Amino acid sequence: FDDRDGFIWFDGKLIPWRDAKVHVLTHGLHYGSSVFEGERVYGGTVFKLAEHSERLVRSGEILGMTVPYSADEINAATNETIKANNIVDGYVRPIAWRGSEMMGVAAQANRIHLAIACWVWPSYWSPEARMRGIRLNISDWRRPHPQTAPTASKAAGLYMICTMSKHKAEAAGYEDSLMLDYRGQVAEATGANIFFVFDGELHTPTPDCFLDGITRRTVIDIAKKRGLKVVERAIMPEELSKASECFLTGTAAEVTPVREIGPYSFTPGEISKALISDYDTLVRS
Ligand code: PMP
Repeated sequence: FDDRDGFIWFDGKLIPWRDAKVHVLTHGLHYGSSVFEGERVYGGTVFKLAEHSERLVRSGEILGMTVPYSADEINAATNETIKANNIVDGYVRPIAWRGSEMMGVAAQANRIHLAIACWVWPSYWSPEARMRGIRLNISDWRRPHPQTAPTASKAAGLYMICTMSKHKAEAAGYEDSLMLDYRGQVAEATGANIFFVFDGELHTPTPDCFLDGITRRTVIDIAKKRGLKVVERAIMPEELSKASECFLTGTAAEVTPVREIGPYSFTPGEISKALISDYDTLVRS
């Protein structure tokens, strides 16, 4: 992925893709001091760009890292990068990290860097293909207590257990993994939030120890506009036998129905279909 044409925005300017490198003694690599975003470009425009740039700055603040650009400057840099790479439908990955001036746990003098990359990435799933639904196992790893990790930050270190969970799920033939939290409650998938339909109402876990996704909030709004009742609450895995539909939400996942989670099965139905359609319309409007 590193040897190709294109431009990456790196600390204030666009540079050739191949030259966007960091030193091996980078603090972010050794100690996980990095925060990032994932954004989608639809028809040349990033959906909810301002929200993503603001979350990036906030994620850094939570880790005590001041990203040296404002959200407005990050918005402008993102648009410049998309234009330089001629992206119409794609994905954007901004990342901020502590540099390599000092090596050790403390990194007070280390510069905070910011880079923004983007690439072509259409949303290939047709609504019909999406409606088949994906299969999840249940991970052995649990989302940590907010006093154990900076759970409100989109911090790279939090993804360590996500990669381990997803690799194990894929090795067993599943597409993704459902992660419970430290209390044993349903939390989210490895890179997406989760919703269930119980008796025609939309239920989703309260985001008190995992990311309150931008897509999650968008889908809650869309559902309310449709007149659906939306309930945010603690959901225990045993309850899933009573859910009729289930879907994931996220920038990458968009709205993706789930047909199986371990022993529980769901039938992607009318509510999933309606929300997929409303989301597709909204991101391109
Ligand atoms: N949870 C995790 C762990 C994620 O990585 C993501 C993707 N950023 C989400 C939830 C969904 O967030 P969003 O809708 O803002 O993309």
